[in-house]
This record gives sequence, C-alpha cells and structure tokens, in this order.
Amino acid sequence: MRHKITLIPGDGIGYEVTLAAKRCIEATGVNIEWEEVLAGSDALDKTGELLPQAVLDSIKKNKVALKGPITTPIGTGFRSVNVAIRQALDLYACVRPAKSYIGVKSRFKDIDLVIVRENSEDLYCGIEFKEGEPETLELIRRIEKDTKRKIRQDSGITIKPISKFASQRIVRFAFEYALKNNRKKITCVHKANIMKFTDGLFLEAAREVAKGFAGKIIFEEAIVDNMAMQLVSKPNNYDLLVLPNLYGDIISDLCAGLVGGLGVTPGANIGNDTAVFEAVHGSAPKYKGQNKVNPAAMILSAVLMLRHIKEDNAALKLEQAVKEIIAEGKFVTYDLKADPQDQSAVGTKEMADAIIENIKR
Ligand code: NAD
Repeated sequence: MRHKITLIPGDGIGYEVTLAAKRCIEATGVNIEWEEVLAGSDALDKTGELLPQAVLDSIKKNKVALKGPITTPIGTGFRSVNVAIRQALDLYACVRPAKSYIGVKSRFKDIDLVIVRENSEDLYCGIEFKEGEPETLELIRRIEKDTKRKIRQDSGITIKPISKFASQRIVRFAFEYALKNNRKKITCVHKANIMKFTDGLFLEAAREVAKGFAGKIIFEEAIVDNMAMQLVSKPNNYDLLVLPNLYGDIISDLCAGLVGGLGVTPGANIGNDTAVFEAVHGSAPKYKGQNKVNPAAMILSAVLMLRHIKEDNAALKLEQAVKEIIAEGKFVTYDLKADPQDQSAVGTKEMADAIIENIKR
C-alpha cells in the first residue's frame, strides 16, 4: 500500500534528524510519498510566516505527519509553532514511550513505560492575567467577592480549565491504546486532594471510563508528587500513565531521564483522525548543520508512525535495527558514548547509515 505523509523538517537540527529518519523508513521498503512543507524559522524567511496555512492543510489532508523540532522564537507574541499545530488539529493525546535500550547510559534497566498526556487544556490554554493590569485587578475583586478568599493584589493569574469531555476523551484513548498495545495497567495521575474541581474532575472521569474496561486492564490512581517519588525509585512497577497536561509534561521528561534522556525518546501527538510524530527533544540550534546529534529519537518516532499506519513489520525491523546499533555502541553519536569526547563517535548521517545497513542485512 502507498501512503502519503506530510514531512515537516522543522529547523535547527530538524533537517538532519528528519532526513535520517526518512532514509531509515525508506530502507524498510514501505511505500511512502512524502509531501514536504516548511514550518519554523526557514518558513519565516521564505514565506514571512512561522506556520504557513499550507502546513496545516497538508497534515489535514494526509492525516499523518513526521515532524522535526521547531525553535520557539523568544520575545515574540507567538507562543510556539508546536503548540499551535497541536491546537489547530486538536491533537489531544500526547503519547511518549520511555523504554530502556541496552547501550544507553541510565540508572535503570528494563523500563518500558508509556506516558499518555492530555494535550488540549489545563494550564497550557494560555489564559493568563498579567500582574497589575486592570482586568487582573477586576478578576481578583470578583474572585474575592465570590469565594470570600484573599488574593494578593500584585498577583498574576493563569487559568486551569479541565473539562469532563477532554478528561474522558484522554482516559478512553489511554485504555484503547493499552488494549491495542498489550499494556496491562493504567495509573491515573492527579492532585485531586488539592484541586478538587479540576484534578478531581479528571480523576472522576478516569474512574468512570475505567469501569468500561474492568477485567481487561488494571486501573490505579496516584497523586502526582508521590508518583514522581515512586518513578525514581521503582519505575518498573508502572506500565501506562495517563495525566492532565502539566503533570504529563513534567512526568514525561522525568521518564525520559529514567531511560537515558532526550536522544532516545520518541513521541506522538494524536487526534481523532490525525497524528503528528516527533521526537521529544527540541531544535538544539547550537548543533545545527554539524552532523553531530543523535537521530535515534526521531527514528523511533518514525517507528511509532509506522505502527500507526499499520506497517507493523517495517516498524519492528526499524526498531530492532536501532536497538542493535545502539547496543553495539560502535556507530553511535557522541551522546551515546561513555565519554562524550570519544573521537570514535560518528555523525547523524553515519549512525543512520549503520541502521540502514542493519535493516538490509
Ligand atoms: P533541546 O532539546 O533542543 O536541546 C537541549 C540539549 O539537549 C541540547 O543542547 C543537546 O545537548 C541535547 N540534545 C537535544 N537533542 C539531541 C539529540 N538529538 N542528540 C543529542 N543531543 C541532543 O532543548 P532546548 O535547548 O530547550 O530547546 C531548543 C529549541 O527547541 C527551543 O526553541 C524550544 O522551544 C524548541 N523545542 C521544540 C520542540 C518541538 O519542536 N517539539 C520541543 C522542545 C523544544
């Protein structure tokens, strides 16, 4: 079957890592027609826009995209191209597997976790009131009047909306993902003891959805601070975690740290009928064009993409090749060497070449 897929190289190290991933995917023999579109600083130079409409149109049409990292400009009104894409396409589920690979330096072995983060609401909605502004002072007056509680007049305020709809939707997604991917247990992470009307709602929604999967998937609950402690001491006790947006962001980075960091952590942003696959790491601008950084996180994101388009054999082959090259430790980038100064480290392209050789073996 021929697949049409949007390719967004991104900026910074984006070109190098997406090119590496594209070559590796092609080596599996999967038939893909790529539609390449520009977003980020290169798009800004060429079209005057960071996120041209053509990018969103292409993803909407093709339903699947492989995306490189994109730099968020500092000091402009624009929050982030990455967040804008997720919001425009309602990619409500952020899925980040954290898996141990032999050959990657890390504190733990045999970790195989999946983090499912709600992507559409919570403190990331961008509804903020700046300290000292008239509308902020008015809001403070209203809250004090309605709740009989005091708020300092020099406060800034960020709103945290959490809805029953989005909570049920993400938890249902997590259960369905668990069933499809042979996961046994879901832990719902929250702070419902303190935020009763937001995290409490998320937890209630999770309990409700969990009833429909009773007997198929084990359901557990954990308070987020305790979860952080449990993860750094006994990560192997967990399987799949489902969390609201902010905790999901923090805990997924913690889990990336458990398995050896950004170089090997892939991700996916998934909506009802559209999905964008990208590494967890950013555009690392200081390494741009140096053929230096690790392409594995991007290639492992491509593995997730291949599974999503039901090319399971190709996904298996590609993941196995990445695993073997990392375990062998010969044709790997500086960050995967015991000493990052090790002169035998290879470049982005050469690590991809080794993975391609392995696929063809
Ligand atoms: P970053 O992930 O780009 O880089 C942090 C450090 O991690 C790098 O300096 C490098 O040492 C290391 N690193 C990252 N990727 C690596 C790789 N593939 N191989 C080896 N080492 C790697 O994070 P940052 O510096 O905080 O962000 C840079 C820019 O990227 C910012 O503008 C940020 O907003 C953006 N960003 C984009 C995305 C995305 O596109 N989804 C995600 C995160 C950050």
